[in-house]
Amino acid sequence: MRNNIVAGNWKMNNDLSQTKDLISDLKNQTKTSDAEVMVAPSFINLQEAIKQTENSEIEVIAQNMHFAENGAYTGEISANMLASIGVKTSILGHSERRAYFNETDESLVKKVDTALINKLRVIFCFGEDLDQRKSGEHFNVVESQIKNALFHLSSESWKNLVLAYEPVWAIGTGETASPEQAQNMHAFIRKTIANTHGDDLANSVSILYGGSVKPSNAKEIFSKPDVDGGLIGGASLKAEDFFAIVNAF
Ligand code: PEP
Repeated sequence: MRNNIVAGNWKMNNDLSQTKDLISDLKNQTKTSDAEVMVAPSFINLQEAIKQTENSEIEVIAQNMHFAENGAYTGEISANMLASIGVKTSILGHSERRAYFNETDESLVKKVDTALINKLRVIFCFGEDLDQRKSGEHFNVVESQIKNALFHLSSESWKNLVLAYEPVWAIGTGETASPEQAQNMHAFIRKTIANTHGDDLANSVSILYGGSVKPSNAKEIFSKPDVDGGLIGGASLKAEDFFAIVNAF
């Protein structure tokens, strides 16, 4: 069966001392659920966070990476660089990367391929914006986002993929998809995968929900059968709130 996962995306927050403090607060929390716990500090603090979380249940993951193996890409970070410091997982395709850094289905295909070649697990993000939701296009949009970026992958590669459905209108806005809206979309995603890759594979893929998840709504969202966890932004910056979400399973 598939794993439950709660991953915190710290975005461009927390300098070195704040990173150390938050990791140490997280290590003081008690985990009562079976969820895998991940946090994504900025690139510059990954190594320190990895050192601090050795022998803990917290996995430190990356927020992004470049699609090239190496070369003349000033300011960028490669999959191999991440792997070489002990990173095992990267978020890819976050809506903020798509909106502010021009990431497209085409560039994400390359990133996903490079991550998997370098044996990184991928948390692949996608989701519709408000206009697309209002005009009823959300299922089509999501279907094309995952088909374009992921459907060329082999069944073996899918073992290293986690999906994160993140409706753009719910990210950082305080507005959350209702548990029913999340469940409907997650079930649709699973069916779409099953249609091309079979039921076994579809049932083995963890699909996370992201968009203003907080301690007060996590339990209800996570109670839905096709919701296997969350990608958490704002609420991952406070250890108690983050672990309240982890323990909502
Ligand atoms: C995110 O950025 O992935 C996210 C879900 O943010 P928030 O929880 O703040 O909406």
